[in-house]
Amino acid sequence: MDGPRFVIEASEAESMAKQSGLTIPLLLPSLVKSAQSLARPPISKYHVGAVGLGSSGRVFFGVNLEFPGLPLHHSVHAEQFLVTNFALNAESHLNFLAVSAAPCGHCRQFLQEVRSAAEIKILVSSIEESDSKSNDYVPLPQFLPHRFGPYDLLNKDVPLLLEPRFNGLSLSDESAGNHTLCNGAHGSDWEKLKRAALDAANMSHAPYSRCPSGVALMDADGQIYKGSYMESAAYNPSMGPVQTAIVSYVAGGGGGYERIVAAVLVEKDGVDVKQEHTARLLLQTISPECEFRVVHCVAAV
Ligand SMILES: [Zn+2]
Repeated sequence: MDGPRFVIEASEAESMAKQSGLTIPLLLPSLVKSAQSLARPPISKYHVGAVGLGSSGRVFFGVNLEFPGLPLHHSVHAEQFLVTNFALNAESHLNFLAVSAAPCGHCRQFLQEVRSAAEIKILVSSIEESDSKSNDYVPLPQFLPHRFGPYDLLNKDVPLLLEPRFNGLSLSDESAGNHTLCNGAHGSDWEKLKRAALDAANMSHAPYSRCPSGVALMDADGQIYKGSYMESAAYNPSMGPVQTAIVSYVAGGGGGYERIVAAVLVEKDGVDVKQEHTARLLLQTISPECEFRVVHCVAAV
């Protein structure tokens, strides 16, 4: 695929490191500037790039996203983008993380959702440039001592972020009916979007509210991008399902957001944590022509 790349295969990362005479972990900071160039921060103009190494040997990029016309809490931070990119590619362990600026408190908290959070090693590349004596990765607990996290609220056997799960959701009967179609998306497109959004909801990390959800987006070429809602033990750093679907869109080579023409949200009806209104607001703002539908699901008993 041409265009921006957000995943580097293990073999390519190895040969890049070899060519530069670097170890793979020390290859990551050399890629941070490329990651920064892919950020979309029209409000702050502050480009953040995060580059992470997974246990498969693949290297992933994360960037910050900001959405003019909306409150700042809709923004996606580069580290959150990176973790979402790991999830989208079924990468289960984040071992090394190089990032252009020190991770903010929000991201230090969000990273706690990964089971091996204490083993994530972080290098801040802007500090490295100003102080060439230290090129060491520092473990996450040094950035966030005395942390609050999943173990304060959950049993240890509950799957955490990046771990496989299936939430046992299916579409409720009244959602299975036909819709009147417009806006160029065909009946089969809506069916595909519904299925993709249901898949995403089934992979959603929502152990705190037990209100999983997923979103699938379709672009003008009929390409589908899906994202799962991902909760944080501290609630506010949670990533909404539209945000994670937009991460999928950006990482998958999607262009301007106005090319998103249709979207489906799958969530349970009448629950405590409902995505519908904020999802509609975000989609209407970034792509006013996008047709948005909500499909309710039920959990198997
Ligand atoms: Zn952050």
